[in-house]
Amino acid sequence: MNAELRIIPLGGLGEIGKNMMLIETPSDALIVDAGLMFPENDMLGIDYIIPDYRSVLDRKDHVRGIIVTHGHEDHTGAIRHVAEAFDAPIFATPLTRGLLEVKLGRAGLAGRAHLQTVKAGSEISLGPFRIEFFHVCHSIPDGVGLGITTPAGLIVHSGDFKFDHTPVDGWPTDYAKLAEFSGRGVLALLSDSTNADQAGWTPSERVVDGAFEEVFRAAPGRILIGTFASLISRIQQAANAAYRHQRKMALVGTSMVENARMAQKLGTFRGMPPPKR
Ligand SMILES: [Zn+2]
Repeated sequence: MNAELRIIPLGGLGEIGKNMMLIETPSDALIVDAGLMFPENDMLGIDYIIPDYRSVLDRKDHVRGIIVTHGHEDHTGAIRHVAEAFDAPIFATPLTRGLLEVKLGRAGLAGRAHLQTVKAGSEISLGPFRIEFFHVCHSIPDGVGLGITTPAGLIVHSGDFKFDHTPVDGWPTDYAKLAEFSGRGVLALLSDSTNADQAGWTPSERVVDGAFEEVFRAAPGRILIGTFASLISRIQQAANAAYRHQRKMALVGTSMVENARMAQKLGTFRGMPPPKR
């Protein structure tokens, strides 16, 4: 087979943040993720850093779709810029889509971007690419990996994942789908994971419950918890602990409040009692 396929990381490879991958044939292209990177301490005046996709602008009409694997900032944070630069539909699972909508809405792009919902287990075709979405467990719910059938062969993109056997949302990674891909023959596995080059394993997200339990039991007064606004599972764990210990919970920060409200509407965030009238 002499089909030509190029896989170009525009950001996120060998660094933490601003994930964006271009997968292209001579006539068609896919973008996977559109993330940001938080500035270092010496980057004064810089709010955030986005992937450098200028090399793709000369063939932006090749881009058939933008696929976002999960809702973390380093995969979604540049969406307003990417949605403006490329006039292609954006595909994401319900929670990821909700998080993207919050961002696009804030940028005044809510009506302009073409968002489409996909689910783990579903598949779509974009130009010569067939994309199969499979569930991966991660520290945010509703993450997916991608099996991308291209004219050159099958590419498996893991997304961000954690092989957590006791995930907070009770939905582990779809190992059977991974086995099925391997049976078909995989041309390339794209899999980049923080600390993957270190021996051992990362504890399950569940261990956080124990830590929360200890703190909630011992603290005589107010408890302050810091977390990323996109870490819906962690917010859920804090809500569960607050509920168990009959504490009131207050969310601080625009993204935190907007994301929690959106996740509550989708049912991915539960455990808050209804507001009193
Ligand atoms: Zn992630």
